[in-house]
Order: sequence, then C-alpha cells, then structure tokens
Amino acid sequence: MISKQKAIVCVFQWNSLRVRDQPLFANPTCIATDFLVNVHVIDDVWESLTKKGTKRASPRRREYYMDSLHSLNHELISRGSGLLVLKGDTVRTVARAVQKLSETHDVSGVYLEAANTVEESRRVFGIQQSIHNLGIDVIVKPNAQTMLKADFVDSSNLPNTFTQFRIMVEKDSTGSILRPIFETPKKLPPMPADLQISTILQENPSSYPVDPRSAFPFAGGEKAGLERIQNYFNKTNGVRTYKETRNQLIGSEYSSKLSPYLAFGSISAATVLQKLKQYERDNGANESTYWLFFELLWHDYFQFIAKKYGKQLYILSGISSIPPAYQWIYNPQTFNAWTKGLTGIPFLDANMRELAATGFMSNRGRQNVASFLVRDLNIPWIYGAEWFEEQLLDHDPCSNYGNWQYVSGVGNDPRADRYFNVIKQGKDYDPNGEYIKLWCPELVNVPAEMIHHPWKMTSMQQKDSQVTLGVSYPLPIVEADAWKKHYTYLSKGKLGRANPGESIYRHKKK
Ligand SMILES: Cc1cc2nc3c(=O)[nH]c(=O)nc-3n(C[C@H](O)[C@H](O)[C@H](O)COP(=O)(O)OP(=O)(O)OC[C@H]3O[C@@H](n4cnc5c(N)ncnc54)[C@H](O)[C@@H]3O)c2cc1C
Repeated sequence: MISKQKAIVCVFQWNSLRVRDQPLFANPTCIATDFLVNVHVIDDVWESLTKKGTKRASPRRREYYMDSLHSLNHELISRGSGLLVLKGDTVRTVARAVQKLSETHDVSGVYLEAANTVEESRRVFGIQQSIHNLGIDVIVKPNAQTMLKADFVDSSNLPNTFTQFRIMVEKDSTGSILRPIFETPKKLPPMPADLQISTILQENPSSYPVDPRSAFPFAGGEKAGLERIQNYFNKTNGVRTYKETRNQLIGSEYSSKLSPYLAFGSISAATVLQKLKQYERDNGANESTYWLFFELLWHDYFQFIAKKYGKQLYILSGISSIPPAYQWIYNPQTFNAWTKGLTGIPFLDANMRELAATGFMSNRGRQNVASFLVRDLNIPWIYGAEWFEEQLLDHDPCSNYGNWQYVSGVGNDPRADRYFNVIKQGKDYDPNGEYIKLWCPELVNVPAEMIHHPWKMTSMQQKDSQVTLGVSYPLPIVEADAWKKHYTYLSKGKLGRANPGESIYRHKKK
C-alpha cells in the first residue's frame, strides 16, 4: 500500500491576512510537512444584511478585502505555496475541504488562530468540533492581533477604564508583556498540485476608483501596508509630528492611516510597534512617538474589551453596568440624512460624504458624527455603528463597536455625558472651512464666518454665496441650543435670528 503524503491545513481568518508575524506559521511542523494548504473562506456573512437592514460591507470595502487576499496569495506564492480561497459558511466549507483532502493525503493537523470577537470565535469553535469529528488534530494558536501578549489580561483583571489599562501597561519596564514577533518563513511547502487556486482570486485585483480627495488613497494588502509603514516612518517622517497633526482632516499624512491594514491583519499591531521602537532608537523618541503608542494601546484595549464582553459589544445597553441615560428613538428620515451627508450641518456633512466616497474618515470626524447621531438626533448608536461597519475600510468590530459605545455613554467611558458640540468642533478643527468646501462644493463661496452655520445667512448673503438654503444645500435637520454661543456673524445687526420662512426642528432639551 502506498502511504499518503503529509499535509497541514492553515485556516486564515479575514482579520489575519498576512505571512509576516503569522501565528499559524509559528511551528516547525508547518514548514516540515510535504504539503501546506492555506485556506481562506469568504464567509456568507459578507453577503448578508444586518438586522437593521444595512449591508455588512460596501462594494468598496469588499474590494479592499479582495486586494488583501490577492496580496496574501502573492506572498504565499513567492514562498513556494499559495492560497485556496473558497466561499460559503466557514465551518462547513473548511470541514468539507479537510475531509476531501484527507481522502488523498495524511492530514496531520489543522491550524487556526483564536479570535477575540463572538462571530470569529464561533467559527473557530465550529471548525474545532467538525475537524475533531474527522479524527484530525486541531491546533488553536493564541490570538495575535494585539501588541500585548494575548494572556496579558483576562476578564478578571481587565481594567474598566482605558487610563487604568494604560497605567497597568506602562508599569512594565521590561517589555515582558509584549508579544514577540513570529519569524517569517522564507520558504513554505507547496500546495498539492490538484488544488487549483480558486477562480475568485483569478479575477483581477481591485479597480475601484480612488477619489482624488481621499485621505486613504492606498491599496490594500500586506505589501502596501509595509510600504505605508516605511513611508510614514522613514520617508514623510509623519510620525515625528503625529501629536500636532493627528486632528487634521485633509490629506494622507496627518495620521498613520494604518487602520485598514490592521483591520484585515495585513500587518500586525506588534509589527507597527516594532517599527516605532526602531524609529525611536534611530531618531529619538518624542511626544508624537509616545502618542502613536498611546493610540495603538486603544486598539489593544478594545480587543481585550471585545474578548471579555462578547455579545455585549453589540447590544444597545452596552458593556456598562449603568443603564443608558438616553431614550433613543430611530427616525428613518434623520438617519438617512446623516448617512447621505445631508443634515444641513456642513462639518458633519463633509465627514459623512468623505466616508461614503472613500471608506475613510478621520478620528476627529468619527467622534463628531457619532456624538451628533446619538446626542443631537437621539438615534440608537447601533444604527450608526452598523453604517460604519458597512462603509469603513478599517472596520474592526472591537474598535468600531467599542468606540460607538464609548461615545454613547454605554461603554468604558467614565464620563457618560460626553457631548461634542459640533459647531465648536468644526470651528476649532476646520476654522476656514477648507475641509467643508472640499466635500460640500455647493458651499465653496460661503464666507468662513458663516461656513459652519450657513442657515444664519440672510437671503442677500445666500445670494452672494450662491447658495439657496433648503434648495442647493439643506436647512439643518436639528439645532441644539448649545451651538448658538459659537455662531459668528458677518455684520452686526443683520443676523442673529433664523431667516424668515426657515423651518428648523428645534432640539428639545433632554
Ligand atoms: C465612532 C468611532 C468608530 C471607530 N471605528 C473604528 C474601526 O472600525 N476601526 C478602527 O481601526 N478604528 C476605529 N475608530 C478609531 C479611530 O478613529 C481610527 O482607528 C483612526 O481614525 C484610524 O486612522 P489612523 O490609522 O490614521 O489612526 P492613527 O491616529 O494614526 O492611530 C494609529 C492607530 O491607533 C489605533 N487607534 C487610534 N485611535 C483609536 C481609537 N479611538 N480606538 C481604537 N484604536 C485606535 C488604530 O489602530 C490606528 O490605526 C473609531 C473611532 C470612532 C470615534
């Protein structure tokens, strides 16, 4: 009897699409086997709608995902292996593929990475069960999405606030809590010849048009992610001034733009930290380099929060033990105006239009549009989080739902009454309205004094600015009292009250 050749299966989750610092390859058996079958399943969930009717992913986000898969495939091929991409229910599809493979090969193990989120953990568990039933070993490697070791904290000692968490991390001066980077294999065993690379990946990589105004004009995938690190740290040197620029709104260099790569796992947070430390050794540390570390800690914190709270990350009352202070009510009209960037509040509209056109929005923008949705429009935060999930290239369940809960006062924020005054914020961060004019070209002639509240313009001023409120640009769908002290006027006496005929839904005090 001819003995079967040995094969090992590595199952890649959607948020770990890389070969460098890859936990699945961190074992000698993977390298020593006759054949290596790298599998990724595009789960049916990507085609599905959320309970609220939004898509799980916009066409742009799906394209970005495909780019990330193409890149992984190239990295694997260049090491002598390849990627088998399948579609379907992950658990059943993997089980079927392994069973089929075991008819012709001696499958000596299936490798998986543990997950921090409910949906992905369910898949890991399901695969474990079904493969175990086939009598094949399943090896679940610790999750490698964080800079910190996966077991650095658990549900019993994870602090309730980020500050306590940061202090806990900073107490460690030895670096022993950091996860070591896994070695990258130079060569990998081949895929079995009869396993053709699926047609899914034979299609051309993304041709999705990039808006020339985009703050994220980059391609997806490991190679592009590594290039972005190299550029940000060593070419444009953006990291040197990160603390001063991170609240800006225009262009690619005001912040690292690493989040889409981190979300799909094209690069790991540990790799970014390694580069940051190297940068500090070569060029010296400063407040900006520390601040980037500080933000990366937020990334890790939300991963641990997701792991601890499971399903609670996705429910309206959140992870907080205190009931929400607000009675949110869904209103389809105001919600649609928010998604389309037609609220009549230019700073918000600019951000929402940028998101829809590019799949990216700055952190400053995200905080403002989120606060506006839950505090000024009084809409349940989950609608906003699901819209972000569909649109954001960097959608990561931990960071997205964690941040939405934080802004909505049901997360891990010690201040449950946090409120972003969107008029003040707009004036602080876009004083001349350049960002607004980039995304709301119909307001291009509005003077800086009026750009954040065009509804305070007289008819004459509207004419001079070539805007007709309610026609070429909407009247605000809501107006909060707290905004009024931040209004500015062009000439004394002329303004100060709403224009005749203007219909503004006045914001009721809660
Ligand atoms: C309502 C809301 C939803 C968000 N949804 C997501 C999301 O789905 N995915 C996501 O990666 N980030 C999310 N963020 C956090 C943050 O806005 C983005 O990480 C950041 O804007 C990405 O741009 P950057 O890579 O240039 O960040 P930089 O400013 O360069 O920061 C570097 C890295 O630090 C991490 N980081 C920074 N701020 C945060 C934060 N507040 N929370 C968690 N990690 C952070 C990210 O990994 C980021 O790539 C959200 C924030 C808000 C307020």
